[in-house]
This record gives sequence, C-alpha cells and structure tokens, in this order.
Amino acid sequence: MAESINDLLSGYTQFRNTYFENSQCTLFESLRTQGQRPKAIIIACSDSRVDPALILNTAPGDLFVVRNVANLVPPCELDHSHHGTSAALEFAVCSLEVPHIIIMGHSSCGGINALVQGQANPSPEGFIGQWMTLAEPALRKMEAEATQNALTLEEKVECCALHALVDSMENLYTFPWIATRIAAGTLSIHSWFFNLQDGRLYAYNPSTQNFAPL
Ligand SMILES: [Zn+2]
Repeated sequence: MAESINDLLSGYTQFRNTYFENSQCTLFESLRTQGQRPKAIIIACSDSRVDPALILNTAPGDLFVVRNVANLVPPCELDHSHHGTSAALEFAVCSLEVPHIIIMGHSSCGGINALVQGQANPSPEGFIGQWMTLAEPALRKMEAEATQNALTLEEKVECCALHALVDSMENLYTFPWIATRIAAGTLSIHSWFFNLQDGRLYAYNPSTQNFAPL
C-alpha cells in the first residue's frame, strides 16, 4: 500500500523539478498570470489506461478534461440535479469559449462491458446503474446488430461503445449554447475511439457514419 503512494509522490517530485524548480520553465507562471485558454474540452473515460493528456501529448493548459464512467454525455436536463459533466461543458463552452469538444471512448471499457453483460447495476442503491442507463439506447442498437451478425463479447463491447459515442455526440446538440455555436461555426465536435490494442485513435465521420483512423 505504501509502495503505491510512494510511486505517486516520486512522480510529484519529478513534476515539481520540471515545472517549478527549473527556472527555464515558466509555463505555470504564464498560465497563472494569463489564465487558461485550452484548445478543447475532452470528455474521456475514468479508466486509468486512457489518459487524454498522455495520448495527445499535451501540456498543462492545453486540455479542459472531464472524465466519467464510460465517457458518456447526458442530454440537457434542467431538473436541478447535480450534473457534473454538463456543468463542465457549460464552463468550457460558455466561459472559456473552447473551439472544440472531443468525446473519447476506448476499447475494453469496463462500464460498457458491464452493461453488455447485464452487470451494470451492482448495487440498487449505487450510482453506476443509473449512470449507465445513458448507454441503453446504444446497447439496443448493438443487440440489433448482434442478432444479424454473430459477434463475440469483445465485438459487442466495441460495437456498443461506438454507438454510445455517437449518442453522446447527439446529446451535445440538446444543450442550446452548444447547438447555437455549432450552427454559427465557432464550435466543432469530434468523436474519437482509442484502441488499446494498436494505440490508434479512430474518428467518427458523420457523412459515412463510420470510424476511420486519424
Ligand atoms: Zn471506459
């Protein structure tokens, strides 16, 4: 147990040496005095293997990041609940005026895998099952395809994850301040899928309705 926290603290020491003890590195000085101007907001999975800053080789200040279970975007719901992902989107789009929204899914997603296997609701009093209902339309689309083609479990999980990405993309349009900016051409949205097997990103092309390597 102590070993894992010590690993993290040694990483912290390296971070301090790079960004704060090195007088040539003034990145945080300019980020502190001039504020952040991130290039995009990215909604990624909480999965420890899928770090958007690592995959896109970004520096502090480049990305406004939201990570949640299965990188899902809920529809715009004005019901006074606690909508963390929607709040982050609102801040990035309306206050920071980011020019891009990226949703990044991935292969072998634990949340999607649990949904496909009917295990997404481990505790009736818990939060995961209710959260994963957002991906139920994607599950039904996958099941329709799985009856036509004999899909392996791995293929079902990937198929469901890809449908969930497209559904999340469509949910973005339900936020009026996103839809108006897309219509005005000041905001674009992207749906990417990271394959853990080959390390490649696949992007959704709305005109072909397919994902192709970037
Ligand atoms: Zn995941």
